[in-house]
Amino acid sequence: MGARPLIGCATYHKAADQNPPIVINGLMPTYIQAVYEAGGLPLMIPLGLNSLDLDDILPRLDGLLLPGGGDIDPTAYAGNAHHPTLRDIDEGRDWAEITLTRMAVEKGMPILAICRGLQVFNVALGGTLWEDIQSEMPGAIVHDYFHKRDRTFLAHDVAIEPTSLLAQTLRARTISVNSMHHQGIRRLAPGLIAAGCAPDGLIEAVEVPRHPYAVGVQWHPENLLDVTPRMRSLFAGLVAASSRNGHAA
Ligand code: MN
Repeated sequence: MGARPLIGCATYHKAADQNPPIVINGLMPTYIQAVYEAGGLPLMIPLGLNSLDLDDILPRLDGLLLPGGGDIDPTAYAGNAHHPTLRDIDEGRDWAEITLTRMAVEKGMPILAICRGLQVFNVALGGTLWEDIQSEMPGAIVHDYFHKRDRTFLAHDVAIEPTSLLAQTLRARTISVNSMHHQGIRRLAPGLIAAGCAPDGLIEAVEVPRHPYAVGVQWHPENLLDVTPRMRSLFAGLVAASSRNGHAA
């Protein structure tokens, strides 16, 4: 049997509960477990590397995972950098993830982008975001259950574009999802297609056409593996495409 494909996972800074306070560079274990249970070998990519080193790491990986997190600095998409609802901005993280996304798309490397990851995906390829869906998007339903409900709370449906790779992967036309985001796609990037929409029309899933597996979802499938086992197929799809892509025999 072949080796597990190596899935590079982007990481972030988080303040740790310690006195005096310190910052940790890490990732929620749910992402790591989801990749591992799907047959991939997750490897965390630290922040703080320069573009030469990211360029050096990428060919050694078979696939990429972009996790959730705070808001992207709106200056990255000529948005309103003073919007009062902006939270947890980290320009270094934005830069690293945007760089990795562009490299992966260009090289045909499989990539699964989750929540903030989907937003990074859109911004990296030239799209824009709502800085705050609730106060800006006409007719928006509630999308921000962050810190308000459990991470497994199914907040709304997503209608899946029947011809998309996402439809093939999930084998579903509609899926109920959790929703822990206050930002979302305003203008879709050229080069991406909408693969799924919420009932208010917000694009909740994107993909790069004719790419082996470049999928972004606005929800958090890694929290729904037991509630909705079908969500495992998103990680299985990443791992399968990564096995075909890289060095894993
Ligand atoms: Mn949502």
